[in-house]
Amino acid sequence: MFDYAEAAVEAALAAGARYADARVMDRRHEAMGARNGEVEELTQEASVGMGVRALIGSGWGFFSTSDLTTASARRAGAQAAAIASASASVSGPALELTPVEARQDTWANDVREDPLSVPLAEKGDLLSNVTRTMKEHGADVALAGYDAWDTTKWFASSEGHRIGQHIVECGAQMNATVNGERETQRRSYPGIRGQYGTRGWELVRELDLPGNAARIAEEARQLLSAPECPSRDVTDLIIGSEQMALQIHESVGHAVELDRILGWEAAFAGTSWLDLGRIGSLRFGSDLMNVTADATLPGALGSFGYDDEGTPAHPVDIVRDGIWVGVLSGRDSAALAGLRSSGGAVRADGYNRLPMVRMTNVGLLPGTSSLEEMIAATDDGILMDTNRSWSIDDKRLNFQFGCEIGWEIKNGKRGRMIKNPTYTGIGPRFWGSLDMLGNESEWTFWGTPNCGKGQPGQIGHTGHPSVPCRFRGVRVGVRG
Ligand SMILES: [Zn+2]
Repeated sequence: MFDYAEAAVEAALAAGARYADARVMDRRHEAMGARNGEVEELTQEASVGMGVRALIGSGWGFFSTSDLTTASARRAGAQAAAIASASASVSGPALELTPVEARQDTWANDVREDPLSVPLAEKGDLLSNVTRTMKEHGADVALAGYDAWDTTKWFASSEGHRIGQHIVECGAQMNATVNGERETQRRSYPGIRGQYGTRGWELVRELDLPGNAARIAEEARQLLSAPECPSRDVTDLIIGSEQMALQIHESVGHAVELDRILGWEAAFAGTSWLDLGRIGSLRFGSDLMNVTADATLPGALGSFGYDDEGTPAHPVDIVRDGIWVGVLSGRDSAALAGLRSSGGAVRADGYNRLPMVRMTNVGLLPGTSSLEEMIAATDDGILMDTNRSWSIDDKRLNFQFGCEIGWEIKNGKRGRMIKNPTYTGIGPRFWGSLDMLGNESEWTFWGTPNCGKGQPGQIGHTGHPSVPCRFRGVRVGVRG
């Protein structure tokens, strides 16, 4: 496969490119879904092909092919260069690439149990059994599913990169929906999007879906008769780690994508309130807020050995002691922003998509409190968890989130369950009110397998290390 990648790179150089790279990608995906005790769908798909990038002047060209022969590879390289030449004729900012060591290496994540080798019957039994259990415990609609991806990539560049990677990812989710007279309630496990990682089937076994199926169905039914979340302009809010993962994804992760900050990427609510001139001085949150983008975390969904430009995975500080200090970048965006090196955050969804800036594992570093300590330290507040709805403005600043479940906190104790909890805030003011942060034992690497970005659209796999957090003075229970 490296031979095809190198043939494409050579052809692009021969056609005038000053830089070229090629990525052969072979990806298999399997997904199964069950409903109310029966397996209803099984998807098994495979794609293999090559994407070539060429840079001429300040214009990129991209061309892909699913025909893996030397002749086709050379044609793809020449086509990428021809497109680069055409885009170079349109004036734009001068593009350079930050330097990166040209490594020859291989990388694979740790997998104890290959998810695609676990018998389909066993996986189907798991899903049908947990959905049956949810039905038996009061769910009107019980759904469960898993996804598994097995991806091999071969990357070569005109600078001498030659990198092979094998990445196995999988995860699962389930949810129980109950219908009341006037409303529907739902509980999901382990979160609205499930839980996914760069791990084998051991991840799904550790989730213990069977051990949680009855509980979530019963909680969904209890929610029907639970009181509404109170409406308060100011309260103490404790947020569980699953909802925190989405809070980080939407209000930090997307906001620090350098292509958005530079105005390159305006699709999917795609600019940012952050101004590069204030990096290093802007206060994003309280002193407790430390966020990194770290693609080296074992098992997290945004982990890899090298990004799709051959930049080695490495941790990047995004927020340190509450101050905004870093961005998610690639070689060209980093150079344009005056950064010394790429953040290694460029990936593509498939061989036939142009790599772009993507979250790796963007998450909070843990603090020193436990969830129980936060509850004990709260006289009057609300605890919420498991995302249900979200909205955030184009600049990633004003947001409103709804959660599946909440509890009143009174005098340091968890009180009544409440339904339809929501909270709202403005990025830096909200993060500035963070005053208690979960400790390392509660640090969870949540995975989001469905982050949409770009035109044509690409689906990204991102990770979000997260802990429960307490925020002071938050507006909750906003209706409508
Ligand atoms: Zn996203």
